[in-house]
Amino acid sequence: MTDRVIPIDDGRRAKPLPPKGESGGSERAGRDTLGRHLRDLRISVTDRCNFRCIYCMPRDVFGPDYPFLARSELLTFEEIARLARVFKDQGMEKIRLTGGEPLLRKNLERLIEMLAAIPGVDLTLTTNGSLLAKKARALKAAGLKRVTVSLDSLDERTFRMMNDADFPVSEVLAGVDAAAAAGLAPVKINMVVKRGANEDSIVPMARRFKGSGHIVRFIEYMDVGATNGWRMDDVVPSADVIRLIDATMPLEQVDPNYAGEVAERWRYKDGAGEIGVISSVTQAFCRTCTRARLSTEGMLYTCLFATAGYDLRGMLRGGSSDEEISGAIARIWQARADHYSEIRTAETAKLRKIEMSYIGG
Ligand code: SAM
Ligand code: SF4
Ligand code: SF4
Repeated sequence: MTDRVIPIDDGRRAKPLPPKGESGGSERAGRDTLGRHLRDLRISVTDRCNFRCIYCMPRDVFGPDYPFLARSELLTFEEIARLARVFKDQGMEKIRLTGGEPLLRKNLERLIEMLAAIPGVDLTLTTNGSLLAKKARALKAAGLKRVTVSLDSLDERTFRMMNDADFPVSEVLAGVDAAAAAGLAPVKINMVVKRGANEDSIVPMARRFKGSGHIVRFIEYMDVGATNGWRMDDVVPSADVIRLIDATMPLEQVDPNYAGEVAERWRYKDGAGEIGVISSVTQAFCRTCTRARLSTEGMLYTCLFATAGYDLRGMLRGGSSDEEISGAIARIWQARADHYSEIRTAETAKLRKIEMSYIGG
């Protein structure tokens, strides 16, 4: 038995907003206490999902009685777009829509249109791919730039064991093809590697997408939330992933596309494309973390491993002006000191952190 913490309140608690500064005028987020700018905003558009991935929404916790958010609690598209514009004024350059499963949110294309209308913002989405074959063209037409599709194995039994929803590999692959055909390219494919669960799928996954133009990224299994029973022993270090693939398909490291890129890039020596590894556990990248997260109900989190957030929905619905919300975001960012991945231990892993399906991956 793993030492699992079942959340009694799933960690959705709010911290008080920081008091107003002396300046009176418009405040800038600038750098946080570790010198990091606010560049990326991840927006969770739903806390619901049609999968029950064992590392994210274990079925014994996220069962039929799980208290998902009511519709009235979700930020509306208008509220999300308004906040996105305010974040843009604070230096944000990139939005990733996520969840839960973002494609479950009704009329998501309408939100995409609204966000795509904000100039100078790169707009992407992460999905489990289950509805992508149906929706790829409409997403592209609405203004989405690229997608990341999660796929943990090409082996039918392993994939169904990982998604715990009896969902077949073929439909996710059809989603990847549809995304590429619609021009949502290059498609990135995220594989979370969990020891004893899908390690055997690493090499087949690399081989399947080598030369396809798609980029597979192998992600170290993380202790997000408090329900997945995470243990350090279940993490397969990225260095092992690289060694495994390199043994039959030689690799060499490539420079990052930009400073602070989360995935470490490797390319095949024969020129057949590249892969990435995301080593959040064995090689923390907190020092360059420029990401803020907006939960489905409008709480702002400054770290994936936060235990509390700031209630921006309260400001929106309480009549605050854009300038007031902008000032609050600036002060929250200036006070940010998060660096959880640098201080992770078996003990911190048991903290009642916010669930990934709620905060957005
Ligand atoms: N449902 C969508 C999906 O699965 O792509 C979007 C939300 S999901 C929370 C975002 C990403 O987080 C996915 O690529 C997923 O594999 C990853 N993820 C979830 N739980 C994780 C964990 N415990 N460790 C590492 N990655 C995780
Ligand atoms: Fe759903 Fe994505 Fe979490 Fe899997 S990783 S349970 S698809 S939100
Ligand atoms: Fe960023 Fe928090 Fe992850 Fe560090 S642990 S990289 S601060 S989200």
